[in-house]
Amino acid sequence: MKVLAILYRGAQAAKQEPRLLGTVENKLGIASWLKDQGHEFIVTDDKEGPNSDFQKHIEDAEVLITTPFHPGYLTEDVMAKAKNLKICVTAGVGSDHIDLNAAVQRKIQVLEVTGSNVTSVAEHVVMSILLLVRNFLPAHEMIERGDWQVSDVARNAFDLEGKVIGTIGAGRIGYRVLQRLQPFDPKALLYYDYTALPDAVASQVGARRVEDLKEFVSQCDVVTVNAPLHEGTRNLINTDLLSHFKKGAWLVNTARGAICDADAVAQAVKSGQLNGYAGDVWNVQPAPKDHPWRSMKNPLGGGNGMVPHYSGTTLDAQARYASGVRSILENYFAGKPQEPANVIVGEGKYESKAYGQR
Ligand code: NAD
Repeated sequence: MKVLAILYRGAQAAKQEPRLLGTVENKLGIASWLKDQGHEFIVTDDKEGPNSDFQKHIEDAEVLITTPFHPGYLTEDVMAKAKNLKICVTAGVGSDHIDLNAAVQRKIQVLEVTGSNVTSVAEHVVMSILLLVRNFLPAHEMIERGDWQVSDVARNAFDLEGKVIGTIGAGRIGYRVLQRLQPFDPKALLYYDYTALPDAVASQVGARRVEDLKEFVSQCDVVTVNAPLHEGTRNLINTDLLSHFKKGAWLVNTARGAICDADAVAQAVKSGQLNGYAGDVWNVQPAPKDHPWRSMKNPLGGGNGMVPHYSGTTLDAQARYASGVRSILENYFAGKPQEPANVIVGEGKYESKAYGQR
């Protein structure tokens, strides 16, 4: 069987750190296991354009492994060439780089290692909220520059205590974010999701549901996005919605870059409508050098907490999603049923309820 994996290149770091399992070099730790069973395993980071390894090998691969951190975009056109493809496995969480509707039509299964990095991301969200609200990065940069002017950073630093914080999406990550924020004594914790949390679960974190999105954002000092990217969330945060945010609110998005309109966000930060934006996900990955999110700043010269896509690829997370990929493959090779929570698209239908209301 031919198994194709599109992973990110780990270069020197992957040679020095074998726990960087999700890299081309360390091959999710499954290369010899696959080889011993007689499977062909192709691993590459070359994913763009018609002459890429991805497009060359997809033609006869039966299994495709991809990762959200270096997404191999399996569009309908590419899928049309993939005559043998039966199953796509996402090493991580978030399969929007695969045309899921086309996968449904072609009866190609799509699985994720559900839950593998949700704590990793939730921690990153809390860190990002804090670094924006407390104006941390400009303060640190001042120190690196050799300067010391407390008022220049204190003028835009606040406490998280007493703020209204809301999550768009209250699934595994969104709920963990709410749990982690509760001890900061916010004024309110809100969520917006078409799936309501059970009352007992919502009351455990003291979260209140707001059903209208504009009303939701207008109440929040901090908004965090924790929903998958699909037809209902693409460009959800655009110029119009941003105009309903409280002036000077903070926005953290570790879900997917394309949930936000990149130019609208950059403009909102520049004007001060948003006091800051942070996250690790971009509408194109790797992000071009001139992407506006790399350098956008609020009127006081701060408010940018962007990093490359790494919140869900901590070494702890990599161990979990590498072993999760192996379990999915073991089930597939043995013809055993998969863990239901891992199945996004089953044979010919969506199994997950998280990729939009259908
Ligand atoms: P999940 O399936 O447990 O929860 C997603 C929640 O979003 C569900 O409750 C769903 O109902 C809700 N939702 C879907 N569409 C919505 C909409 N239009 N409005 C409001 N809510 C909506 O998923 P999860 O494990 O919490 O992960 C969420 C997303 O986070 C993933 O799909 C992925 O895109 C992203 N993610 C990013 C990283 C990273 O490294 N940055 C890592 C893991 C996951």
